[in-house]
Amino acid sequence: MITLEHLVASHDTLLLDVMGVLINKKGAIEGAPQFVDYLNEKNKKYFLLTNICGDTEIGIYERLRKNGIPLLSWECVISAGSLVQDYIFNNIPAGAKVAFIGPPSCRTVLDTGKHSIVSCGEAELFDVLVLLDDEGFSFREILEAALTACVRYFKSSGKLPLLLLANSDSAYPRGSDSYAFGSGIFATMFSEALKKLLGTEPEVISFGKPSNRMFAEGKRRSGASSMMMIGDQVATDILGANMFGITSTLVLTGLNSRTDVGQELSTPNHIIDNLRI
Ligand SMILES: [Mg+2]
Repeated sequence: MITLEHLVASHDTLLLDVMGVLINKKGAIEGAPQFVDYLNEKNKKYFLLTNICGDTEIGIYERLRKNGIPLLSWECVISAGSLVQDYIFNNIPAGAKVAFIGPPSCRTVLDTGKHSIVSCGEAELFDVLVLLDDEGFSFREILEAALTACVRYFKSSGKLPLLLLANSDSAYPRGSDSYAFGSGIFATMFSEALKKLLGTEPEVISFGKPSNRMFAEGKRRSGASSMMMIGDQVATDILGANMFGITSTLVLTGLNSRTDVGQELSTPNHIIDNLRI
C-alpha cells in the first residue's frame, strides 16, 4: 500500500484544501498540524487551495495559525477571492464599478485600489457583478436588487454586467444531514432570469475549484512539474485536480466518504483516512 510519506516524496509540490483537511469548525483536524510541520521540516513546497471568499489570504493564514496549523507564510494561501481580485485588477478598466454579493468583509477581499467596490444593495448600476459568498446577507433582497441593476444597465448601455463567479458550487453539505445553496446557484438564477427578461445572458467567468484557474495559479507560483492535490470534496478538489491532470488524493476527514466516489472524472488516484504521518 502506498503511504502518505511516499506520496509526499514523489511529488514536487502539494496543494492542500483547507476546510475538512486542515481545519473544521471545531479547530485543527487531528494530524494536520503535525503534517504541516513535517512538510516544513522536509522543505516541501505546498500551497493551500481554498474556495474561501469572505477573507483575504492574510486573514485565512492568520486563522489557520490561530488554529495551530504551523504555516510559514501567508504566501502559501491561494484563495478564490484573491484570484477574483487579481482578475479585476488586471482586466477591468480602472474606475469601473464592481458590485459584490456576500458579507461586508468581501469589500476588503476585492479592494484593488483602482476600482469602486460596492455591496450589491448600495449600487443602482455597476459594470461587474462578483458572486462571492452565499452567507452574510439577506438572500432574496440582495439578489433582486442585483437583478434590477442588471436590467437597468442593459437598458442604458445595451450590454449586461460581467459576472465573476468566485465559487461555482451550486449546493453543498453543511453538516452530516443538512444542505445549503452555494453561490454557484446565483449565476444560474441570473442567467435564467436575464434570458427570460431580456433574451440575453451575461458572460460568466468561474474561479474556485474545480475551475482550472486555481490549479494553474498553484503551478504558476510553485513552478512545479509534479503536483498532488489533497482534498476532502470529490466535486471540487478531486474533479478539479483530475481535469488539470495532476495526482488527486481524497482524505476522509471532511465531507466525502468512500461511497461518494463515483463517476470517472471524480475518482481520486488515492484515498487516505487522515493526514497522520
Ligand atoms: Mg474542503
